[in-house]
Amino acid sequence: MWVSKLRYETVIGLEVHVELKTKAKLWCGCSTQFGTEPNTQVCPVCLGLPGGLPLLNKKAVEFALTTGLALNCVLADHCRFDRKHYFYPDLPKGYQITQFYQPIGREGWLEVEFADGPRRVRIKEIHLEEEAGRTYHLPSGPDGVASSLLDYNRSGIPLLEIVTAPELSSPAEARIFLEELKAVLECLEVSDAKMEEGSFRCDANLSVRRPGEKLGKRVELKNLNSFRAIEAGLVYEEKRQRELLAQGEPLPYEEVRTWDEEKGITVYMREKEQAADYRYFPEPEIPPFAIAGEWVETLRTNLPELPLEKRRRYREEYRLSATDAALLSRRKAEANFFEATLQKYQGSAQTVANWILGELTRLMKEEKAEVTNLQFSAEDFAALLQLQDQKVISSKIAKAVLEEMFRTGTKPAVIIEERGWQQITDPNIIKTLVRETVVANPAAVQDYLGGKQKAFAFFAGDVMRKSKGRVNPELLNEILQAELERHRSVGNSGYQSDRQ
Ligand SMILES: [Zn+2]
Repeated sequence: MWVSKLRYETVIGLEVHVELKTKAKLWCGCSTQFGTEPNTQVCPVCLGLPGGLPLLNKKAVEFALTTGLALNCVLADHCRFDRKHYFYPDLPKGYQITQFYQPIGREGWLEVEFADGPRRVRIKEIHLEEEAGRTYHLPSGPDGVASSLLDYNRSGIPLLEIVTAPELSSPAEARIFLEELKAVLECLEVSDAKMEEGSFRCDANLSVRRPGEKLGKRVELKNLNSFRAIEAGLVYEEKRQRELLAQGEPLPYEEVRTWDEEKGITVYMREKEQAADYRYFPEPEIPPFAIAGEWVETLRTNLPELPLEKRRRYREEYRLSATDAALLSRRKAEANFFEATLQKYQGSAQTVANWILGELTRLMKEEKAEVTNLQFSAEDFAALLQLQDQKVISSKIAKAVLEEMFRTGTKPAVIIEERGWQQITDPNIIKTLVRETVVANPAAVQDYLGGKQKAFAFFAGDVMRKSKGRVNPELLNEILQAELERHRSVGNSGYQSDRQ
């Protein structure tokens, strides 16, 4: 058998868990704030104590519906919940309240621009459920006994599970899809979608098959805690399954594996559960309720422009490069700042994009600042760029002005005035500066006349240094050239006059 000649297809489906950023939990009034002291945001309801009755947080349903609309889902006309039974210490009730029989949205899609072009990835369903608590496993002590700590602050935070159809064909595609989904959720402002805080998590199902054959047995990968881990884990698992298939040993059953980041391998955890193992039944404590059509229509009307639309608009309307359009539209706050600047600015959109993605991003990274808490407004930023276009300041000085605006919030015109940073455009002043340096450096003049271009750069640099970068560069080039050429003719005539 020509095993090595056979080609394989990879099939990936994703289950994404997203914490919705409501202020209160799904069934109680406890805070959802991240990073507080363990077990300080708990009550009888989210601790699963007897007698605690759940009361549904409407905002969570609204966020779920909004996400469903953005993902082009068919929305359920009723909201209802079910119990999923399993036992684990982080789930104090012994069951999780979720939506099994009627997810809030199904049959949706998200359009994604992959390397080979845009494609719609189908969303099988989205459903609302509750978060479990967090377990911290401690290493065993001197007595050999290991222990675990439990924090129920997370217990009961609303969670949205988004399940894709198995339509992604490579680990790279899985990553691109997830980045797009994350951008959509941030844009909708329904979730922080922070992987590092666990508010955006992903399990991935991967199988391989020969083209035309039915889907192979899949492996569910867990513990994928970063975009890098997702791609690396899937690459490893894809290779492992292809090798097994090539050896004529397809997977005997579906299994759950975990990604070991340090070793760079996937490790067997358990056989995959089937739905029957969870003994689902309708949640008796939360009665189903109708989702009003008007409510959905209001949410639909209020949907913001999504990242993909924005990206396309930036390319078409503003003629931005594909890379710049992608970078700017990825983060809503930056995109808003970009558009607010354009409202006040007469120059090109590409100039604004260059400055936001260049100098401003550099400063924000250095100072760990966000575009939402800058000391200056988009209007000030536009004014700075305008002053540069009008040649009041050079681009080099403009960078220094931006740094000052960034630190102090002072208006650009005030900074320029106070520091005396206006560009020197008076030809007579420039001529004087040029003549000073030319007279002081006769050897360099000879170099220039002898054809050494470096000498020209030396004079230009000297004038810039002495003027602290304020001389208009184009005028300087023009005047310097004229002055040096004048020396050529003066030099010649001088030589002739000596001979006379
Ligand atoms: Zn609570």
